[in-house]
Amino acid sequence: MEQDYPVIRVAVPVPLYGTFDYLVDPAASAPVGARVQIRFGRRPLVGVIVATDVESQVAPDKLKPVLRVLDDTPLFDEALLKLLRWTARYYHHPLGDTLATALPAALRRTRTDTESTRNRGWQAVADAPAEAEAALTRAPRQQELLAAIRAAGNAVAHGTLLARFPGAQRPLNALAERGLIEAVALPGGLETGTAGTPPALTSDQQDVVDRLRTASGFAPALIEGVTGSGKTEIYFQRMADILATGRQVLFLAPEIGLTPQLIDRLRSRFAAAIGVLHSQRSDGERADVWKAAGAGEADIVIGTRSAIFTPMPRLGLIIVDEEHDGSYKQGDGLRYHARDVALKRAQDAAIPILLGSATPALETLHNARAGRFVHHKLVRRATGAALPAIRLIDIRSRPLDGGLSDPLINRIRPHLEAGNQVMIFINRRGFAPALFCHDCGWSAPCHRCDAPMTVHGAMSRLVCHHCGSTEKAPTVCASCGSESLIALGAGTQRVAGALRSHFPDVAVARFDRDSMARKGRLEAQLADVASGKTQLLVGTQMLAKGHDFARLTCVGVLDVDGGLFSADFRATEHMAQVVTQVAGRAGRADRPGEVWLQTRNPEHPMLVRLLGGGYPGFAEAALAEREATALPPYGHLALLRAEAHEQRYPHDFLAAAAETIPLGGELACWGPVPAPMARRAGRYRAHLLLHASRRALLHPVLDRWQTQLAELPAARRVRWSIDVDPQDL
Ligand code: ADP
Ligand code: ZN
Ligand code: ZN
Repeated sequence: MEQDYPVIRVAVPVPLYGTFDYLVDPAASAPVGARVQIRFGRRPLVGVIVATDVESQVAPDKLKPVLRVLDDTPLFDEALLKLLRWTARYYHHPLGDTLATALPAALRRTRTDTESTRNRGWQAVADAPAEAEAALTRAPRQQELLAAIRAAGNAVAHGTLLARFPGAQRPLNALAERGLIEAVALPGGLETGTAGTPPALTSDQQDVVDRLRTASGFAPALIEGVTGSGKTEIYFQRMADILATGRQVLFLAPEIGLTPQLIDRLRSRFAAAIGVLHSQRSDGERADVWKAAGAGEADIVIGTRSAIFTPMPRLGLIIVDEEHDGSYKQGDGLRYHARDVALKRAQDAAIPILLGSATPALETLHNARAGRFVHHKLVRRATGAALPAIRLIDIRSRPLDGGLSDPLINRIRPHLEAGNQVMIFINRRGFAPALFCHDCGWSAPCHRCDAPMTVHGAMSRLVCHHCGSTEKAPTVCASCGSESLIALGAGTQRVAGALRSHFPDVAVARFDRDSMARKGRLEAQLADVASGKTQLLVGTQMLAKGHDFARLTCVGVLDVDGGLFSADFRATEHMAQVVTQVAGRAGRADRPGEVWLQTRNPEHPMLVRLLGGGYPGFAEAALAEREATALPPYGHLALLRAEAHEQRYPHDFLAAAAETIPLGGELACWGPVPAPMARRAGRYRAHLLLHASRRALLHPVLDRWQTQLAELPAARRVRWSIDVDPQDL
């Protein structure tokens, strides 16, 4: 039968693998890559056109019309659609939800809102009256802001200023009232940088740049350079090369690495249109940057994980800074790894890609060894500063006070007395990881998870770090009634308290997710560190990267042992990365640094390797271990997860799933087994691990699962998902 109306195929953001056909008004411009509003079941949703002029298998009278075409030109260009189709296939995730993940939140909604504060920037007024400025003598905040805006030379985005100067809204308004600055529109949410002079490269840097320049087409390069070796300068040189040819650059940084310092450095180097996708920008601003990049108006886009999906028609270079960072892997929904997607994107576009790190992921090192990536190494710091020495403090049979041993306290003291800064790293927030009964051994559990509650605020509150439950800390044991409850172990709060009592005259600042909950707090505390007001820093991962602490000369790491004996096979790798990154914070300028690791396992082979051979020595040993156990990068994994309120449902589902797999040969299936935390937020969790010696063996099974699993009767009782290349098991 003839169709009266043309049919289009739409990817819809629902947890179903198919795409869906709709009728569209023949008069409407509805190209592939444009968004449409459609009705799916009863819900109105935003989908993306993936094909036009479709000959539908569905009878015409069963087809529904699209409600509205939202774009008359494609939002996704062909190259990006191709990348996203690959992403959906590789991660075995529905295409509709994959496309929705790539879209900025504002473009996922049907309403195209125009916020009034959107795309606002500030610039200095050139001929401002001198009296106005003279009147600022008693307004240091305004002075500081004015100086920053003038230093930028061009308009600075409102969001960028807020990120750098918390609470800047009022002083900015005041400056505007005085006629010293004026609001300007930033087209497409983009900022303009100013041309700056790069430093003369060191010969090590120059060698790398020269070698990078000889590559053409798809050319993945790993730049393994110790912290402070000048990797960023190398990126900048290559960016300048590419920008000079009129092409665009995409710069990915991990969540913690995308600091105001990095953005400032970029802005004061390149006279280019820069789109920044950081967490302080509104949905509207992000959407504008996305569109401006797609229209070719942005020269540089810098952002975190999801920025990998920014459309860039003239893309000429991708940089993945701190490529080993865990934040590049999305932990739910579309479980993609931005570094791996970036590699695919660079390959499709036949352009160079730079992966940089002081501590490359073992997967990346393996690719470099196999000759798939060119491996560049920088073993010296650009400033000539010495790398800190890393040494152990054996804490077996030593008492700890708030997690700190006496030898560590004694090592810290001279640094503080010399006016330098000291950082204590512990990867656990809160006061203590458990509340424990001294008489019977009971410890306060979370009622919704198989995990103990973490003690917060000096024994006052219990918080579950897995589901967020909180309660008042009990004063008697729930099991035996004893009043001898003790907080076992230490978290950042307890360490900070112990340091305050040991060094009462020194300002201590705590950096963790709790203390940073308030917006702008991190920046404010970092400013106090930069000014030297804060001498002692206690913190989690948050302190491990991105920040320059000029006066930091001593680092203490309290909990390396956790990384040595975890069920997660990646735990030692993460431990080695964190230790190396944290150590890299010390002694950056002219002051030599030292790093002390507290451990009860001073003879552990991995620790010995790390100390003796640095991260490269460690990585060598760790890769040998992975090879012996056929774990990634020597084997390939996919994880099928399932969870439900009732314990047996996930197990039944996974067992049925396991039966669909033709086993034997080089494909193995482990499980179903309970997840390491078998119950979380009241749900029972289990998984099935697929292991293949070759990646090609894995994907046919996953393809089959994609169609079969949803049809299993047991699937109706669980929430399930496929995780390709899982990062945490
Ligand atoms: P990385 O990214 O490897 O940690 P950076 O590029 O941030 O290293 O450089 C570390 C420090 O050394 C920065 O303060 C930077 O300004 C400085 N630096 C880098 N390259 C040079 C150079 N060629 N000459 C002088 N200083 C440099
Ligand atoms: Zn008890
Ligand atoms: Zn819990």
